[in-house]
Amino acid sequence: MQQNRFFILIALLLIGGLWVYGTYIATPKPPHKRPAGATSPGNRRVEKSDADWKKLLTRSQYNITRESGTEWPNSSELTHEPRPGIYSCVCCHSPLFMSGTKFDSHTGWPSFYAPITSNAVYDEPDGNRTEVRCSVCDAHLGHVFNDGPDPTGLRYCMNGVALSFAEGK
Ligand SMILES: [Zn+2]
Repeated sequence: MQQNRFFILIALLLIGGLWVYGTYIATPKPPHKRPAGATSPGNRRVEKSDADWKKLLTRSQYNITRESGTEWPNSSELTHEPRPGIYSCVCCHSPLFMSGTKFDSHTGWPSFYAPITSNAVYDEPDGNRTEVRCSVCDAHLGHVFNDGPDPTGLRYCMNGVALSFAEGK
């Protein structure tokens, strides 16, 4: 009798474990939906499965761009990158920001007052903040705030991990 109860308990734990695995772990996340009306430079689009992004990106790149994570402040070398050049999306390589619009926001995150073109990124409400995503591949990049410098008054507060930098004029 005692042994029967033990086996029933084990069976229940197994079933419970499989249920949790099936519901939360093995179910693929649906791809992020770009807001209706959003465009991208050259109408370029890059859409990949979660599994493919995982293969392409490092763990922290995946966490920030595909799971809307946030890097530790001052953890990215790009925060204090002084050279002229272009900052692109680390996922799809779409150009996002120019060094000419970069400024020191003293936040510990690379900050820009404007994207390279207006449709390089798009905004989405995120609680009381506004999230910024790449318009080509929907990568989460960071947030935009209204306390930036002239001429736009905007502060694009980006995760350095979500960007790749190429030096240039
Ligand atoms: Zn992208």
